[in-house]
Amino acid sequence: MRDRFGRDINYLRISLTDRCNLRCEYCMPEDGIKNKIPHCDMLSLEELYEITEAFVSLGINKIRFTGGEPLVREGAVDLIKRVNALEGVREVTLTTNGILLDDYLDELLDAGVKRLNISLDTLDPVKYMEITRGGDIARVLKAIGNAKAKGIKPIKINTVLIGGFNDDEIPKLVGMTRDGGVDVRFIELMPIGEAAGFARSRFISNEEILRRIPELVEVDRDDPSSPATYYKLPEGKGKVGLINPISCKFCTNCNRVRLTATGKLKLCLHSNREIDLKKVLRNGENLEKAISEAILTKEEEHHLEDQKYITRNMNQIGG
Ligand code: SAM
Ligand code: SF4
Repeated sequence: MRDRFGRDINYLRISLTDRCNLRCEYCMPEDGIKNKIPHCDMLSLEELYEITEAFVSLGINKIRFTGGEPLVREGAVDLIKRVNALEGVREVTLTTNGILLDDYLDELLDAGVKRLNISLDTLDPVKYMEITRGGDIARVLKAIGNAKAKGIKPIKINTVLIGGFNDDEIPKLVGMTRDGGVDVRFIELMPIGEAAGFARSRFISNEEILRRIPELVEVDRDDPSSPATYYKLPEGKGKVGLINPISCKFCTNCNRVRLTATGKLKLCLHSNREIDLKKVLRNGENLEKAISEAILTKEEEHHLEDQKYITRNMNQIGG
């Protein structure tokens, strides 16, 4: 599928649920979601499959499952396996907080997942418990170790940089890339959802990583549509990625669209505009036609530089 600006749209990110087993301070309210989505407003697994099938028939070949926490949705792994078996699908991937990952690792491998993104903002058990409001880092580290041992590659650790919280851990986090088992990507904190109130005062530009670790050397990007700029330690085997959604635009290479658990198609992460594919599906209308028409309205670029931020929380979109 080509959009109006000639971009080949081949990547779909699906949020399987807005629920989560953690309560990261910048993402989820402490007491969970305030307005719980009624069950009938959520896409069933079968509906998610049907919509995904329509996207794949139109040329989507890479699918990432995210959330909320995708692994808390019952039946997630079966859905991933069915989607992976669709003709035309080149890759299925998962973004997870890692808490349940070890329990599902073998099933996920069997379902066809070859790459993983795991969110981890600190290596300190007490700080991890604090930022996630109760998470046990030992579970995540065990899952990362086992995923490495089972040959999942790449494993990308996603770290949101938060001033005064984890900037002192930059050398340790970068050091995780030495043996090549994982890449570590630093993401700038975005002032949306739960982070709206404190993101500006705790914001640290990714430039800080290069200032603290000047020996990092920029390396060629193997995927031009990746939002990350990649670096390596001189003796490092893994990569260090910097994702700067605010200070750096990667819109010209954008190849992705997003589907929420309630069936809303988001053509740009940073736009509030959504297209209701659940309605199209439940009214028995033509999904392929609705998707093809929608793609032609994909925004050219975001306007974060003008401080135009979305109103949805990240747990509803999946990052
Ligand atoms: N629960 C899964 C996880 O944490 O990996 C998947 C969903 S989570 C919403 C996806 C990513 O969004 C995580 O890496 C998280 O750190 C990031 N995220 C959430 N809120 C954010 C914010 N305000 N700014 C930057 N990244 C954010
Ligand atoms: Fe849950 Fe992921 Fe949001 Fe943390 S960032 S609360 S793990 S959805």
